[in-house]
Amino acid sequence: MLNNTSNTLKPIKTYHISLFIALTMKLLCDQMLGTCATWLRLLGFDTFYTNSNITDDELLRIAEQENRWVISRDKELLFRARKRDMKVCEITTTELDEQLYQILKLIPLDNHHLLSRCTLCNSILQAIDKESVKGKIPQQSYQTYDEFWVCLPCLKYYWKGSHYQKIMKKIKEIKKKTQSLD
Ligand SMILES: [Zn+2]
Repeated sequence: MLNNTSNTLKPIKTYHISLFIALTMKLLCDQMLGTCATWLRLLGFDTFYTNSNITDDELLRIAEQENRWVISRDKELLFRARKRDMKVCEITTTELDEQLYQILKLIPLDNHHLLSRCTLCNSILQAIDKESVKGKIPQQSYQTYDEFWVCLPCLKYYWKGSHYQKIMKKIKEIKKKTQSLD
């Protein structure tokens, strides 16, 4: 994953994006849940998160307007969201795996959306051809892999490197734990 300032990228496979967005569950994480928000994006959830200063009023306004689940450890924020009939998921732990487990118990995961979003900005990744990433990612990764994606707003590149195996392992563990509830 690297940043690059080139504007010569030619995305492919953009045809199903509007349907894709429509089907993705929308979430909002409070400011204490940054790592959790990153993981929710990896799982493919459309996740609002900001670490800049934002008031609870503003968070609630965004969640309400964009029809997002409010995911929070903040009892006051959750209370206010519930009062406004918003969908809420209360997090009661600081442990990441447990947080994800608490969320996925309520909000089902769709495998089709895994690893489809930029972890930095939440945008949907676009597949790009191998030629487009030449010289923009480490040579070894370029030689080893054939599939690449880019976040156009961030110009960050993604491929299924060693981090991908770790992510898939964690996703498998969480899914197994969630399914054992059924
Ligand atoms: Zn991005």
